[in-house]
Amino acid sequence: MVVYEPPSGSTMTSQAPHRMLSGKQSHGQTKTHNMVPLILLLNREVRGAKLEIPNILTGQASQARKGEDFTFIKLDCQRRQGDEFSTFGVFAIFDGHNGVAAAIYSKENLLNDVMCAIPPGLGRDEWLVALPRALVAGFVKADKEFRKQGETSGTTVTFVVVDGLTVTVASVGDSRCILDSYDGVVSTLTEDHRLEVNEAERERVTASGGEVSRLSTVGGAEIGPLRCWPGGLCLSRSIGDTDVGEFIVPVPFVKQIKLPATGGRLILASDGVWDSLSSERAAKCCRGLTAELAARQIVKEALRTKGLRDDTTCLVVDVIAPVKFSVPADKKESGILKALKFRKRSQQLRTRPGTAHVDFGKVVELFEEGSARLSERLTSEPEIFGDQGLFNCAICQTNLSVSEGISLRAGSFFSVSASPWEGPFLCPSCKLKKDAMEGKLTLHGVEVA
Ligand SMILES: [Zn+2]
Repeated sequence: MVVYEPPSGSTMTSQAPHRMLSGKQSHGQTKTHNMVPLILLLNREVRGAKLEIPNILTGQASQARKGEDFTFIKLDCQRRQGDEFSTFGVFAIFDGHNGVAAAIYSKENLLNDVMCAIPPGLGRDEWLVALPRALVAGFVKADKEFRKQGETSGTTVTFVVVDGLTVTVASVGDSRCILDSYDGVVSTLTEDHRLEVNEAERERVTASGGEVSRLSTVGGAEIGPLRCWPGGLCLSRSIGDTDVGEFIVPVPFVKQIKLPATGGRLILASDGVWDSLSSERAAKCCRGLTAELAARQIVKEALRTKGLRDDTTCLVVDVIAPVKFSVPADKKESGILKALKFRKRSQQLRTRPGTAHVDFGKVVELFEEGSARLSERLTSEPEIFGDQGLFNCAICQTNLSVSEGISLRAGSFFSVSASPWEGPFLCPSCKLKKDAMEGKLTLHGVEVA
């Protein structure tokens, strides 16, 4: 079920309660994993599912000025077609600019592009480990395919996958996703790719050949936020923006966490909300309200503060524990500080989902990586992607003949690396795109199709 409400006027909608994992297990069209016997996988999944069967409640609200914000809610995705136990939910916000084409294209294609990048036949734990890399491949593929349409618009993407209590967030641009865990701690699960606030991204854009500066008036005074030139975009990452330099990349910041057994509230919103409200204020202003009322309250609060200056859209996703937990008093405090000390950008950590136990009051970090370099994002987890890398492009998934594949480790067309024969491999056009994104190649006059 896909629900989309155009954000015109004062659209306010909500989703009915939905149990994500329930009912009898169906083997459906389950494929056997190469390494692990099927029965072991299924036993493990059933054990995990019993511990992690949250209810999902969603609500959304929007006030449109330009009509370029879009939301996406899909509660009935399945890792294995026909297997109810493999159900997961996807929630996203797309804030378009210079038109709506990139936002609509991403809304319609991104989920499929991400799922196509996950090797078939994985058990739940392996699937969750594969997801961050698949998100990177899917975002880049969507951007590459959209550019073929000749449209110049662009979009932010904040894309959230909720599988049991495991939440994976991928984002480009400045549409933030925050978590309000039920112990009252508010944390940000995305990174703002705004040149004004992100020094590391300013350095990356400049090193890749872009220029970062403010608009200048005739008198020479500088006005407005920092922008990159050519193009004049305030963001350093997006999908689309064909008329801006290739250094505006679609490589998402990705964070994966495991919620405590008590669940939590995810709040996704476009910058119309975040320009008016801090994360803490947005979370606090709607505590105690249903997801539907919470989304309305956040939009109302944002408008009350600064008026309707931009499209203002909010999507609230409540991940609710299936049973009432009585949290011991001493546990209430335990995870608060640890949970919020999220690591710095580009610092990668990986905890296997199967080894992260459900905790009463603690958010467990499983993965975080924000680098814009594909060579750092697509080479992880060789035990899952290893075989596939020999025969498929790691980005567009096209089958490659032995003579076609170019190793991700091969450097640019104009430089040589020490290990050019190891996977993962890219097709020639994805290799061109990678080099262009890293400032090693100008695409002016070069067809990347
Ligand atoms: Zn490719």
